Amino acid sequence: MSLVEELAGIVGTGHVLTAADEQQPYVTDWLGKYRGSALAVVRPGSTQEVCAVLAACDRAGAVVVPQGGHTSLSGGGTPDGSGKAVVLSLTRMNRIREIDPVGNTITVDAGCVLARVQEAARQAGRLFPLSLGAEGSCTIGGNLAANAGGVAVLRYGTMRELTLGLEVVLPDGRLWDGLKALRKDNSGYALRDLFIGSEGTLGVITGAVLKLFPEPRAKATAFVAVPTLEAALGLLSMVRERCGDRLTAFEFMTDVCLDLVMRHIADARGPFSTMPAAAVLVELSDTDGEAALGERLEGTLVDAVGAGLAQDAVVAQDGTQARAFWRLREGISEALVRAGKAAKHDISVPVAQMAAFVREAEAAVEESAPGARPVVFGHLGDGNLHYNVLRPEAASEEAFAAAVPTLTRRVHELVVRYRGSISAEHGIGQLRVGEMPGCKTPLELELMGALKTLFDPQWRFNPGKLLPPGLAVRPPL
Ligand code: FAD
Repeated sequence: MSLVEELAGIVGTGHVLTAADEQQPYVTDWLGKYRGSALAVVRPGSTQEVCAVLAACDRAGAVVVPQGGHTSLSGGGTPDGSGKAVVLSLTRMNRIREIDPVGNTITVDAGCVLARVQEAARQAGRLFPLSLGAEGSCTIGGNLAANAGGVAVLRYGTMRELTLGLEVVLPDGRLWDGLKALRKDNSGYALRDLFIGSEGTLGVITGAVLKLFPEPRAKATAFVAVPTLEAALGLLSMVRERCGDRLTAFEFMTDVCLDLVMRHIADARGPFSTMPAAAVLVELSDTDGEAALGERLEGTLVDAVGAGLAQDAVVAQDGTQARAFWRLREGISEALVRAGKAAKHDISVPVAQMAAFVREAEAAVEESAPGARPVVFGHLGDGNLHYNVLRPEAASEEAFAAAVPTLTRRVHELVVRYRGSISAEHGIGQLRVGEMPGCKTPLELELMGALKTLFDPQWRFNPGKLLPPGLAVRPPL
């Protein structure tokens, strides 16, 4: 019996896709940058089926690529073009298993779409705070494997901080049941944390226990004009001091970003009569007391203007105006796509050094691609910037494409010098795998390689992603 026939026997013929047209969404990534092919796309319906599928793949020595919503921005869930991979799509596994309002937890299948988990929490009067642009398509398993961040990390943390327990099927088909809802467990190595952020290289996450929070019923949102990035950092400190944990989002964008959004996004409107040098979207939330929250934010911003940290500020009067502010922030990525080719970098550096980093990066960009325009925005409170660079108007697409590798290398070398990360939240995937030796120490790479070999001795799981080829401990396939 062939592997494909064996897999069909486990999950049912209708859930093993071998035709090219059926496979297309599973082998082409979200951005259309990577196009692969697969021996089969397999869609199991339960954890038991995942165990049986992986055991069969292990016996056959088949390459496995775990996949959720396939929204990775680093080609993490897309197979290569060899046609040998079994793509394991978790999207049929979409049950909310349990909500515990006393323990404040939700237990879900890994294939649950993020927006569905948020909605289930809301219906129980709770908040599941992970929130990002792809939330209508991405899955909890993908969020975990990528350790996703998003717009509420400042208050609630990344997916790692939001997770209590995991259920994982190992590459040989054995089940690790770590589905515990414990907030305290000092009984040894945190195996859970190895799988979070492992980008599908160590096993398949099939279920998770996630933390829930009280639902914030009051929100106050403001759009603030700031003169410089340094001033924005000063404003961040002031808002934190005055508003404490209520600070949920602190999103920074430069005038170049705002200009792009106004030009390319039809329904985007800025609240200021003149374009500021930069702006910040500030959001506070609390379990109640909307009026008091608005007053607190307004008072803080008045003092910030007095201290020269802000030039102007508008506090949203209702939900519609708040959504319009978010549209300015969330429209930047869309506007960038419409504006043409850009070199993209998803970096983090220590918050206090962000202004110095941006100054040095600007000089590096100008030397690598004279006239190129940095489009800098991101989650300032997390030290995370989307440091994108638009093609200079005078340069051809070809000339800019030729300059991008040097430009990216220079930006990333600077990130490493500032003890930052070349992937704050989008993952390494296949996009950045070649840069790992430049940003991790030999010891870090050795330990990562040894862990990989422990879990996946033949390196069959998601090859070509996260771990650079040629690590010393890698055995031949
Ligand atoms: P996939 O893309 O299917 O897979 C991602 C990785 O996880 C792959 O390596 C895959 O092999 C692995 N994987 C998937 N499921 C499993 C599983 N069950 N077990 C083991 N491994 C698995 N990210 C942020 O952090 N913050 C943002 O603000 C943000 N904004 C985004 C906005 C847009 C419009 C888009 C398209 C993406 C954005 N992302 C953001 C990227 C983000 O990482 C992904 O959207 C999401 O976390 C991936 O989930 P997914 O289910 O689509 O995973």
